[in-house]
Amino acid sequence: MQQIKDNQLLKTFSYIDGSWHSSESFFNVSNPATGEVLTQVCNAGIAETELAVKAAKNALKKWSAKSANERGTLMRNWFNLMIQHQDDLARILTLEQGKPFAEAKGEIGYGAAFVEWFAEEGKRVYGDTIPAPSGDKRIVVVKQPVGVVASITPWNFPNAMIARKAAAALAAGCTFVVRPATLTPLSALAMAELAERAGIPAGVFNVVVGEDAAGMGKVLTQHPDIAKFTFTGSTAIGKLLIEQCASTVKKVSMELGGNAPFIVFDDADIDAAVEGAMASKYRNAGQTCVCTNRIFVQNGVLEEFTEKFKTAVASLTIGDGMTDGVQIGPMISSNAVDGVDKLVTDSVALGAKVLLGGQRDSAGNTFYQPTVLTNVSNDMPIARDEIFGPVSPIIAFDDEDQVLEMANDCEVGLAAYFYSRDIGRVWRVAEGLEYGMVGINEAMISNAAAPFGGIKQSGSGREGSKYGLDDYLEIKYLCMGGLNK
Ligand code: NAP
Repeated sequence: MQQIKDNQLLKTFSYIDGSWHSSESFFNVSNPATGEVLTQVCNAGIAETELAVKAAKNALKKWSAKSANERGTLMRNWFNLMIQHQDDLARILTLEQGKPFAEAKGEIGYGAAFVEWFAEEGKRVYGDTIPAPSGDKRIVVVKQPVGVVASITPWNFPNAMIARKAAAALAAGCTFVVRPATLTPLSALAMAELAERAGIPAGVFNVVVGEDAAGMGKVLTQHPDIAKFTFTGSTAIGKLLIEQCASTVKKVSMELGGNAPFIVFDDADIDAAVEGAMASKYRNAGQTCVCTNRIFVQNGVLEEFTEKFKTAVASLTIGDGMTDGVQIGPMISSNAVDGVDKLVTDSVALGAKVLLGGQRDSAGNTFYQPTVLTNVSNDMPIARDEIFGPVSPIIAFDDEDQVLEMANDCEVGLAAYFYSRDIGRVWRVAEGLEYGMVGINEAMISNAAAPFGGIKQSGSGREGSKYGLDDYLEIKYLCMGGLNK
C-alpha cells in the first residue's frame, strides 16, 4: 500500500451523499497473493444502504434537470482523473484482487473508456415523431431517465463493472448507488473519491461497502424509491435478485455467468487461434465471465493446435501480480482454488487427461497451475460448469453441425469465439451460435463502443454502445390532440 502515490485514494468509509460515513464495525480487506491484511474497511449495513438510496433520490431532480452537456463535462472530468491516476488505481486493484499490474492498468483504462463514451453518448438521447392515425393529432416520443439506479457488482473487475453501469446511468440523468463485492471495496471507494474531485454533485454517485450482502441486497432490490436494479455476478444470485425485484416491478438488467466455447476449425490460422485462446482463457487467471471455458478443435488440426497451445501455456509466468513479468496472478481465494481443483479431479476420474499443470501451485494456497486437459467430452464437469480458473479443456470434433450442437448445449449464452477462414462457414457459425457476443478470428471483443451482454441464462440488457443507454431510459409517448381549426 506504500506504493500508492496519492494516498487520498485509499478510503475505508462508505461514500454517501458526498461524505464519508464511518460505522462501528470493520472488516478486513486482504491481498489474495499473500494473505496479508491490506486495511480495515467500515462495515456498512442496511441503515447506510437506505441512507444512500435517500441521497440518490434527493439528488435526482437536479441531476436529471442538467443538460446532457453539463453532465458530460463532469463525467469527462471524472474520466480524466481516472486516467491521470491510472497507476495508483491499478495498484489498488492488483493489491485487493490479484490480477497482474499490467492487466489492472488495462482494466482502469477499459472502465474509464465507458465514462468517456457515455459522457458523449448522453448528448444523443433522441426522441421520435410518429405519423398519427388522424389529422388532428400529433405523436411525439421522448426519453427520460428511469430514476434512482441500484447495483451490485462482483470482485473480478472491481473498477470496470461499476464504471460500465454508472457511466450509462449518470449520462442518462439517473443517480446511482453501488454495493461492490466485499472482497474488493477499495477500487470502488477510490472511484468515489475521484467522482467527488470531478465535481459530480453529492448524492449522484454513492458507494456502500459492507459484508451483509443479503440484507443490503434486499434494500437495493426492494426499496420503492429505486426504479432500476442492475447486477453483475453469478447466475444463481442473479435469479434470486430478479425475484426480489419483482415485488416493486423494477426495471432489471443482469450480466451473469458464461460458458464460452472457443472453436478451431480445420481451415483456421492456427497461430492466431493459439494467440486468441491464450488471451481469452488466461487473463485474470481465467476468472472472467467471457473467458474461454471449452476449446473445441476439429480433428484435422487437433495435434498441431494442442502442441502449440501447450507450449504457449507452459511459458506463462505465475506469481504475485505486483511482480514484473507475472502473467498469472492468484485466484481470488483458496476456496476458489478448491473449486477448480475439484472440477479437474472429477473430470480426470471420468477419463480426461492432464497434458499440463493439473494441480495447485507452490506459489501459495491461492495459486493454481495453468492447466491443459485433453480427451475431454462435453458432458464432463469441467465442460458443464463455469470453470473460473486457469484450466483449458480441449474437446475434439468432426464437423460443423456437431460442434454447433455441442457449443449450444448449455443453459448460458454470453460470449463465444471461433476461428475459420471460410466465409460461408463464418456466417453460418456466427448466426448459429446461441450467444450474445461472438468473436470471429478475434478473442478480445469487449470495448465501450460495443454492446456487451448475454442471452439465455447469461442475463438481459446490454452495457456499452448506443444500446447501453436504453436500460437507463424510459420511453414516454405524448399524444397532442385537438389541432384542427
Ligand atoms: P456472486 O457470488 O454472484 O457475487 C456477485 C455480487 O453479489 C457480490 O457483490 C456479492 O457480494 C453479491 N451477493 C452475493 N450474495 C448475495 C445476496 N444474497 N444478495 C445480494 N447480493 C449478493 O458472483 P462472484 O463470484 O462474485 O462473481 C463471479 C460471477 O460473476 C461469475 O459467474 C461471472 O461469470 C459473473 N460475471 C459476469 C459478468 C458479465 O458481464 N456477464 C462480468 C463479470 C462477472 P459479496 O461480495 O459480499 O459476496
